[in-house]
Parts: sequence; structure tokens; C-alpha cells
Amino acid sequence: MAAPGENLRINGDRLWDSLMEMAKIGPGVAGGNNRQTLTDEDAEGRTLFEKWCEEAGCTMGLDTMGNMFARREGTDPEALPVYVGSHLDTQPTGGKYDGVLGVLGGLEIVRSLNDMNIKTKHPIVVTNWTNEEGTRFAPAMLASGVFAGVHTQDWAYGREDAEGKRFGAELERIGWKGDEEVGARKMHAMFELHIEQGPILEAEGKDIGVVTHGQGLSWTQVTVTGKDSHTGSTPMPMRKNAGLGMARILELVDQIAWSHKPDAVGAAGHIDVYPNSRNVIPGKVVFTVDFRSPDLSVIEDMEKRLREGASQICADMGLDVAFEKTGGFDPVEFDKDCVAAVRNAAERLGYSHRDLISGAGHDACWINQVAPTAMVMCPCVDGLSHNEAEEISKEWATAGTDVLFHAVIETAGIVE
Ligand SMILES: [Zn+2]
Repeated sequence: MAAPGENLRINGDRLWDSLMEMAKIGPGVAGGNNRQTLTDEDAEGRTLFEKWCEEAGCTMGLDTMGNMFARREGTDPEALPVYVGSHLDTQPTGGKYDGVLGVLGGLEIVRSLNDMNIKTKHPIVVTNWTNEEGTRFAPAMLASGVFAGVHTQDWAYGREDAEGKRFGAELERIGWKGDEEVGARKMHAMFELHIEQGPILEAEGKDIGVVTHGQGLSWTQVTVTGKDSHTGSTPMPMRKNAGLGMARILELVDQIAWSHKPDAVGAAGHIDVYPNSRNVIPGKVVFTVDFRSPDLSVIEDMEKRLREGASQICADMGLDVAFEKTGGFDPVEFDKDCVAAVRNAAERLGYSHRDLISGAGHDACWINQVAPTAMVMCPCVDGLSHNEAEEISKEWATAGTDVLFHAVIETAGIVE
């Protein structure tokens, strides 16, 4: 199939107007948005999106998790659709672009194809995934996770918000629970455009991030046990200082992460010290070591070296140590062909680009388990996101959507 001509561009003004129009629904208190999942504001945003999709000639599908699928037909009735999308829900103090750009960017692709009278072999389906943010109902990426078979629907329906309201009941209440079986759709491919939510692209002056991987994560809870004793009257040789043991282990965690530079990271963000009193040498500390890397073998190596090294440190100090793996997920390697389609699109359109590893989770990370998937990223100011001050420029949004456009239509096949 021929590559799309470099003259094919989306309408950046129309895209921007739609972003600003959507941002009027569920406004925040400081210029951003509060359009949390399964609220009345979410329903209003969905209604506007559906209206726009229907005006663009799409038919809307809705599954039992409230995922929305706006379909533009292709010429081959047998061909599986190319999916494109992200999420319209926001954090309670969220920005106007996190997720929304990926959904409205997908809509802009359909509008542009209509303008240019271009037909594609494969249908194109613009998707809004329910509850990506996971703030109101944990965890994040809930509905795409059910779609990909990571969670069961019953479990998802039973998730409760802070007021004890259940996901399933709230989905029904806002009127966006469909009949279609979740996960039944088969995909030719799926593309997600998202703001970076990190500082790299802006710092390097790049227009486009070609996302090759999603970072994996491992949480190990470490409990070091020594003996509570007086900080004044216990002689140095007789101390069993669990706090000092932790300090040495944290130094090791830092060394382990650095040994896998540049992509691995490690730290302990959660630390409890017992009894946490000024004049008591800590007899116990509990802390969680958070290791991340896009490479599973690196994560496994870091976990192993933590256990071996910390055991040695504690043995030398007369301390006991115990480990418990309390969380994690494997790294994501996006589909090589889809990633190449994104990179080639940036190249063809003359946008500067670099490969990027997603530090955050996205719907695309789950969908990658059931369909060939890739992501496009565009910069955001100061890398700031999950904040009402989240900002991007119209040029960045346009570049990202142009690249998405080319990757999608090349994959969907332009019919001459
Ligand atoms: Zn997002």
C-alpha cells in the first residue's frame, strides 16, 4: 500500500477549537478540567463527542464497560478496523489535553479524511476508553484492562469510589452502559496519541516522541528488624540499628539503578520507621523499593540484587530482613510495525522526533496485549500533567495529530 503523500495534513485550527469546546465541560478551578469518570460531566462530554462523531458520518458502538467506538467504514467489508483513541475522563485537578488530545485527534483524522474524500481499505474506529485515570475508581486504565482480559468485568463493576458508589451502578446511572460484549472486537491495530507528561521532548526541542516501550514496575516491601534501644545509653558496638540498615540498603538501591543507566530508576518513596521517636534507635523499618525499567530482565536483575545485597548488609549488622513483592507489572514492548509507522510518518512530514519510553501507564499498554499497538507523544510545557496548569501549543497538537493521521491511514490503507 502506498504511503500517504506528505501534503496530507489535518486541520490544526479545527482540532484546537474542539479541544477548547470539550474543555468547557467540567471546568476545573484553575483553568483545567474536573471531568472525572462516570460523573454527569463525563456523560456530557460523551454526548458532545458522540454528536461530533455522528456529524462526521460515524456510527457509535458502546460496550458494557462504557467504551465508545465511533466507526468510519472502509471499502473492504472483511478488513478489521484500525483503532485510534485515548480517554476523555480527567483527574479532579486535571488538564485539558491528557487523554482528550488522543480522542479528539482521532476524530480530527476522520474529519480530515472526509474533507479530502479519502477512502481507506480498513475501517477506522475512534475510541474513548472509560476510566483511564483511576482516581475515582481504582485502578487506572480500568476499562481497557477489562477489554484486554486483564481484569474481569464483575470485578470492575464492583470497584467503589470514596462515597461507596460502585462503578457498575454509576455507569448505568449516567446512561452510558452499552450492550456490546466488552473485548469482543478484533483490531487490525491501535494507535494512541498522548501528551508526554514528562520533560524530555520539550527540553530537546523535539516535536514527536515515537514510543517504543512502556516502563515496567516492581515494588518490593522490605522489613528490617533490629532492636529498639536508647540513643544515649546504648554503646555503639551493641546497637542493632534498623534505620542504619535501611540507609545502607537505599544506597545500594541507588547504585543498582545507576548500573542500568540510562533507562532504569529506583528509589524508596514509602518509609515507616518504628517507633519513630527522637531518642530511640529504630528497632524496625518498613519501606518499599520501587524499581522501573522498560526491560523485564533488568527489573528481574534489580530485584535479585536488592534481595542478595540487602540480606548481606543486614547479616553483617546483626539485623533481620524480610522481603515481600507487593506490586508490579511487566514492561510493554509496542509492535515493531506500528512503531515504524509512527516513526516513518514523523520523518515523512518533516517533524523532529526521538524514540521515547512511556513512564506512565496508558490504555495502549493494555491493548498491546490483544492487538498490534503503538503510541505517538507530543511535548507539554515543563513536562507538567495531572495539573490544571497542563499546557501544550497548537503547533505541538497539530504535529502529533498529523503523525497519528499518517500512521493510521498508512495502516488502514488508502484506496486510490
Ligand atoms: Zn492520560
